[in-house]
Amino acid sequence: MTDAERVGALVDELLSECDPSNATEFLGRQFDLGLAWVHFPEGRGGLGLEPNLQPLVDIPLAEVGAPAPMWLNPIGVGMGAPTLLAYATAEQLDRLLRPLFTAEEPWCQLFSEPGAGSDVAGLSTRAVRDGDEWVVNGQKVWTSVGHLARWGLLLARTDPDLPKHKGLTYFVVDMHAPGVDVRPLIQMTGDSEFNEVYFTDARVPDANRLGAVGEGWKVALTTLMNERVAIGGIVPPRGGGVIDGVLHAWRRYGYDDPAVRDELVHWWVQAEVLRLTNIRALQTRTAGTPGPDGSIGKMISAELNKKVWSFTMNLMGMDATLYPEGYRMGHAPQEDLQHRGPQLQFLRSLANSIEGGTTEIMHNILGERVLGLPGDVRVDKDIPWSQVRRS
Ligand SMILES: Cc1cc2nc3c(=O)[nH]c(=O)nc-3n(C[C@H](O)[C@H](O)[C@H](O)COP(=O)(O)OP(=O)(O)OC[C@H]3O[C@@H](n4cnc5c(N)ncnc54)[C@H](O)[C@@H]3O)c2cc1C
Repeated sequence: MTDAERVGALVDELLSECDPSNATEFLGRQFDLGLAWVHFPEGRGGLGLEPNLQPLVDIPLAEVGAPAPMWLNPIGVGMGAPTLLAYATAEQLDRLLRPLFTAEEPWCQLFSEPGAGSDVAGLSTRAVRDGDEWVVNGQKVWTSVGHLARWGLLLARTDPDLPKHKGLTYFVVDMHAPGVDVRPLIQMTGDSEFNEVYFTDARVPDANRLGAVGEGWKVALTTLMNERVAIGGIVPPRGGGVIDGVLHAWRRYGYDDPAVRDELVHWWVQAEVLRLTNIRALQTRTAGTPGPDGSIGKMISAELNKKVWSFTMNLMGMDATLYPEGYRMGHAPQEDLQHRGPQLQFLRSLANSIEGGTTEIMHNILGERVLGLPGDVRVDKDIPWSQVRRS
């Protein structure tokens, strides 16, 4: 039996045994059969196979409407799991991986701060060792689904006297622990997807550290590289995803203007090129953690989404100014936006070129790490973080 046949047989077994409408049970069985991430080791949600076999699981499960862990626990599945696989101890993996995949324990990412977004290595949140624990103080911001999360991926400064990349350590934080205060922020869509998170003498056991003390930047890069692919590497069916939305609008608003049709075809072709690029990236990826080329999909999808939804608003004319479902102020979406109106998707798409690293930062990564161009100016890279001037 080939690897592909083995995966196919296990998918059949999963579908014959479990009812997709019971998400927790279905995803638990998917994990136990090794179909969560086929490239993970056996017993850890995988089968130890090549990652490019994962579509043999994902496509048939999507076709029967099986629960999508990526929507239920996007940060856990997209970024937490690969980071855990690379750096967690056996005990941490035993405790954390399965409920992450079943979405019984949602995750959030605690990197960005008011003074550190693109320059995340410049962050200020401090973790100070106290016996078997670390005492954390500081403020994070833009923390998506922080109010729903059980666990947070925290990057904190443990040695301010080292240069900024060297004094960081990475932790898994219990979001329900005393001293962790999550406050929602409302976005222009009316939703409240992200939060600010305050740490006031919050205690994190050293057993929750990922990687060595001072090695946090290395661990964070694994998270960030996976984040870009989780955001930009999605492979919808041909004609699906963002382009499906504009096609709906085009049919409904009945434009037969050749110039509009020409623009529509232009965006359809762009979406198809991105889709094929992402398929190629998936098939050529032999290691679990993507490289800097993951920034291509992130950057192109962000700009494409914004342009396609903007074009859709033009097609809709005055209807684009209506917000039919109303502002669901403070509601926290943890859902596929495809089911919501194009107006909301237009507003939400404006965040695409900011979240997960801005388009400008993607340009820098691609320029430096893929094309080998001269680096950005970095005047604070080699001096102790404590001596860097900041406001
Ligand atoms: C919807 C959404 C969800 C998010 N979720 C999370 C989350 O869950 N967890 C988390 O930690 N963060 C999250 N973020 C934060 C996101 O990662 C940051 O907003 C992003 O990295 C930019 O940081 P900043 O907002 O501080 O902007 P800044 O870094 O201050 O950038 C401001 C502008 O300057 C440009 N710029 C900065 N440095 C350079 C440079 N070197 N070269 C060229 N241009 C540059 C930027 O491109 C941008 O246009 C989220 C953001 C959004 C919008």
